[in-house]
Amino acid sequence: MTKKITIAIDGFSSTGKSTIAKLIANKYNYIYVDTGAMYRAVTMYAIDNKLISNDFFKIEELKNSLSKISLLFKYNIDLGFAEMYLNNVNVEKEIRTLSVSKLVSKVAEISEVRKKLVAEQQQMGIDGGIVMDGRDIGTVVFPEADLKLFMTASADKRATRRYKELIDRGDKVNYEEILFNVQERDRIDSTREDSPLLKADDAIEFDNSDMGIQEQFERICTLIDNRLS
Ligand code: C5P
Repeated sequence: MTKKITIAIDGFSSTGKSTIAKLIANKYNYIYVDTGAMYRAVTMYAIDNKLISNDFFKIEELKNSLSKISLLFKYNIDLGFAEMYLNNVNVEKEIRTLSVSKLVSKVAEISEVRKKLVAEQQQMGIDGGIVMDGRDIGTVVFPEADLKLFMTASADKRATRRYKELIDRGDKVNYEEILFNVQERDRIDSTREDSPLLKADDAIEFDNSDMGIQEQFERICTLIDNRLS
């Protein structure tokens, strides 16, 4: 049987983790899990149920509601990747809006939320053959991963990418707002008490401020092939 490894990709917001992860998953026929989508879906649940807004956060109520939140990735053959379903509703588009991005890092600070999602992520990776991206994959979810990557890029490059993505899909946003959101999420994600965003000691760092997707992909494939041989 072909060997199937576990690949953990962590890094700051909008560093292109998911683009690379999808390319890897397609090439090696691995499962791809975007853990950010899971934190975003819990945040959407909290917004829809009036548990969080820019002015308030009913943390205890969210903790007590966690058992009512069911998250599922369903593969969409036309898109070539899995979409996020929150309580059986496809929320793939809504979870990417700026209003969710503005609140998600506050929800991701809550240990009870992390405990639930990390357990589900570990279950998805139980058989290997998985590429998972997030903030704590190489440090907490799969500390024994065969390959750990840590992606960085300048805040300006990242905000520009995210801005283009949102404009291309028709959202009305301004660049300053996106730049602020990217930096604010980095700040909260890196300084939270539970599972802060950190480069694992054995992770390989990629600064892709000036590196194209193809070059990154080729370099990463070499790293994977070395581990498979
Ligand atoms: O990856 P993405 O930018 O969609 O993640 C959204 C947010 O979810 C992050 O800014 C972070 O607050 C949270 N997150 C996390 N741990 C992960 C993945 C995402 O805390 N493994």
